[in-house]
Amino acid sequence: MSFNINEKLMLLEEPKTTLNNYKKVSLYVPIGITCTFKCKNCCNIHYKENNRFYIITFKKLLDMYKKNKLVDALVLSGLEPFDNFEVMFQLIKYFRKENTKDDIIIYTGYELTEIHNLVDKLKGYNIWLKLGRYMPNSKTKTDVNLKVLLASENQYSLHVK
Ligand code: SF4
Repeated sequence: MSFNINEKLMLLEEPKTTLNNYKKVSLYVPIGITCTFKCKNCCNIHYKENNRFYIITFKKLLDMYKKNKLVDALVLSGLEPFDNFEVMFQLIKYFRKENTKDDIIIYTGYELTEIHNLVDKLKGYNIWLKLGRYMPNSKTKTDVNLKVLLASENQYSLHVK
């Protein structure tokens, strides 16, 4: 699939600089505009009910990233970013092609067994994944690699090199 860098990308909301989604200051990009899961007490229900999206091109997003001298990482999140995998994959390839070697982190609710064929495609792009479904009433835990508080104990990180 070839991708036009001026093609429009839909996000849940405007990308923002965050301190609490990774151990480094990050540009948080909510690229997953839907989520197929139906977790009880969904912690993102306000996003699921949202139907006003933020539109940006790949090029503008990269420009925004490069101009922001605070950020050292790109966080791709959702709702569920793997439900929009092809667009997300093109964005990752574009960032890497443009010599962005910074950390890229994807927050997904999928288990590795459910998306292993897609995760295989990410090999060679140096990506950190946060995997695992949100479990209501579970304890939270701090992930040792991402250095962030995960919403439930079953969730974990994986480095895809
Ligand atoms: S995976 Fe996240 S967004 Fe999706 S239903 Fe569960 S809590 Fe909500």
